[in-house]
Amino acid sequence: MPSTTHADAFHFSHPVASYWEATAPPLDLPLLPLAGDVRCDVAIIGGGYAGLSAALELAAHGIAVRVLEAAEPGWGASGRNGGFACVGSHKLSYARMIQKYGQDESRRYYRNMKEAVELVSALCRHHDIDVDACETGDVTLAHLPSRLHDFAADVTFMKQAFGEDMTVLTPEALKEQGLNGAFFGGLKMNHGFGLHPLKYVRGLARAAHRAGAVIHPHSRLLRWQEQDGLHHLHTGQGRLIANRVLIATNGYTPEDVMARMRGRLMPALSNIITTRPLSRSEQEAQGWTSTLLAFDSRKLLHYFRLLPDGRFLFGGRGGTDASAPSAAVYREKLVAEFHALFPHWRDVEISHFWRGFVCLAHDLVPYVGPLDDRASVFAAVAWHGNGVAMATLAGREAARRMVGLEPVEPLSAIVTRRLARFPLAAFRPLYLKGAYLWFNWQDSR
Ligand SMILES: Cc1cc2nc3c(=O)[nH]c(=O)nc-3n(C[C@H](O)[C@H](O)[C@H](O)COP(=O)(O)OP(=O)(O)OC[C@H]3O[C@@H](n4cnc5c(N)ncnc54)[C@H](O)[C@@H]3O)c2cc1C
Repeated sequence: MPSTTHADAFHFSHPVASYWEATAPPLDLPLLPLAGDVRCDVAIIGGGYAGLSAALELAAHGIAVRVLEAAEPGWGASGRNGGFACVGSHKLSYARMIQKYGQDESRRYYRNMKEAVELVSALCRHHDIDVDACETGDVTLAHLPSRLHDFAADVTFMKQAFGEDMTVLTPEALKEQGLNGAFFGGLKMNHGFGLHPLKYVRGLARAAHRAGAVIHPHSRLLRWQEQDGLHHLHTGQGRLIANRVLIATNGYTPEDVMARMRGRLMPALSNIITTRPLSRSEQEAQGWTSTLLAFDSRKLLHYFRLLPDGRFLFGGRGGTDASAPSAAVYREKLVAEFHALFPHWRDVEISHFWRGFVCLAHDLVPYVGPLDDRASVFAAVAWHGNGVAMATLAGREAARRMVGLEPVEPLSAIVTRRLARFPLAAFRPLYLKGAYLWFNWQDSR
């Protein structure tokens, strides 16, 4: 069976060697691991966007909140993603979504995703977080001629279903807009922007700390006991006793210590390479000068963008083995795919490669809500590879709901439904492998 969650991926003692890690100022806060017995109202497990956004919200309301983070804040996906703050936190198609949950809840969900992008901007402004924000907009690029024809239908569907305005771009228009690669057309939308994900998550950590949240780095939850209606969370050196707990561990969820989470999530790998900075003439030789967020139209998609310092970031979902040797093989595959789409940059050095876990739910939509009848344990998880914005919004809304505050943005019933378990959960790595084979086949026709 492929080792999707190989131990090599849980190197909590050191950060991943990403371009972001090389370019973000250090966190520089006086944070200490949990030590001894400590009491709080709300404990949050996981110091990524979801956990820190929740901590910020609770602390701002004067609630005694502590965050347990196994490594440093932002060590997980939040500090190592592509920096696409945009909509799309599900894998269920919009047509299926409307069929299953109805037009109103689907519209509300779509609104939630747009509100989430706005929230990221607002938090950065309000807390003075400099994230190297790029221009607004994203574009999906047809990897086959047939996809360009699908785009026309998408424009009509998205307008009618969500009032969304999208524009189809011909190959000539792509060239004019500095979006030239091996593509057959594009579909442009005016939401979303690029950011430095590690600067953003560290900014959230600083804001939460300033608001009064206590963040414990290097405090990995190892054992979870319940006694007299309280939660006892044991780390190596301490015990946090809390009335309520928020699980915000997403793709890194430790099922062995969280019985409630067993079988409910599917971690999957996403991988990124960055090039050295490309000069303006190198960018022009390829015809790619835009800093728009870009994806191709594959199901097993590539995502890419030009960074403010001229480097090109190119990512791809996939790989079913998180071991270090398998990472090296996957790197070569990703580089070959990059060269096929951007042939003018074949000789450009690759400066960084890294990977991390995204996370899927069985029904392919995010989850924000309680995991028990007492509502003393909540989870905010499953962003389907798109959590920069949604995990931020969901963390805040989960926090408010846990302590009985009115929502700022009422969440769609789609994300507050019951979080189902995968049938025959032990076979999840095989499901993933099967899904990749199926997607690859669909992407080739
Ligand atoms: C390579 C890659 C590229 C991506 N690109 C994008 C993108 O461009 N745009 C986008 O929107 N999304 C992207 N994503 C997804 C996005 O990064 C995630 O959805 C989001 O960061 C999840 O945030 P989170 O707070 O829910 O979880 P995470 O940031 O993963 O945080 C979970 C935290 O839990 C901690 N933890 C785990 N176990 C324990 C324990 N036992 N005790 C204490 N702490 C524990 C981990 O250390 C980790 O820091 C990408 C992900 C990856 C991996």
